[in-house]
Amino acid sequence: MSGRDDRASREAMIATCRKMNASGLNQGTSGNLSLRVEEGFLLTPTGMDYDALTPEDIVLMRMDGSHEGRRRPSSEWQLHRDILVARPEVGAVLHAHSMFCTTLACLRRGIPAFHYMVCAAGGVDVRCAAYATFGTDALARHVLEALEGRKACLMANHGMLALGSNLAGAFKLAVEVETLAAMYWRALQVGEPVLLDDAEMARVLEKFKTYGQQSPPVAS
Ligand code: 13P
Ligand code: ZN
Repeated sequence: MSGRDDRASREAMIATCRKMNASGLNQGTSGNLSLRVEEGFLLTPTGMDYDALTPEDIVLMRMDGSHEGRRRPSSEWQLHRDILVARPEVGAVLHAHSMFCTTLACLRRGIPAFHYMVCAAGGVDVRCAAYATFGTDALARHVLEALEGRKACLMANHGMLALGSNLAGAFKLAVEVETLAAMYWRALQVGEPVLLDDAEMARVLEKFKTYGQQSPPVAS
């Protein structure tokens, strides 16, 4: 898809950004969103209110870091670029400073197997990436490490990140991980949550492969 015929993708990006606001995932102008396209990826501009975005504000980035458009790209462009390069199955990357994920990340805690739905992020836990200053390649390295075998992670003293094959997938997983963080945080207020063991999480991961509506739909 060329930079000139990607309007529908830019509009889909803005719609997802607005959903990030409406769902409470997003705080102020923090967070950013990217979508893989043929020439590289579309990325939200730095420091702009999502409600004010128009398709022309979305930045077209190439994998070499060069970009096209009237706005400056998100300060986390390297993070998005490095993930999209390292993970070819990923089509969209969502980063947010959502309340409960960030609360846990400030304690440098990930989300362990306190609930079977943790498997939605691809493994037995959601790791917390080590801290590095926002917008640095060190942060990109730490996040990629925490994402090994996973589709989401927390980011120490910063926020969270979720991957999807498309925008809807990344958004759905981000909401799921934020919900899990809220549940885990609440459970911690009362006591020490009971964790599921690796054998049980392996069973759940296996069941996830065929859970829900499969496509093409199974004939009834
Ligand atoms: P941008 O507005 O530059 O995308 O930065 C927000 C953010 O969350 C940095 O980590
Ligand atoms: Zn951030």
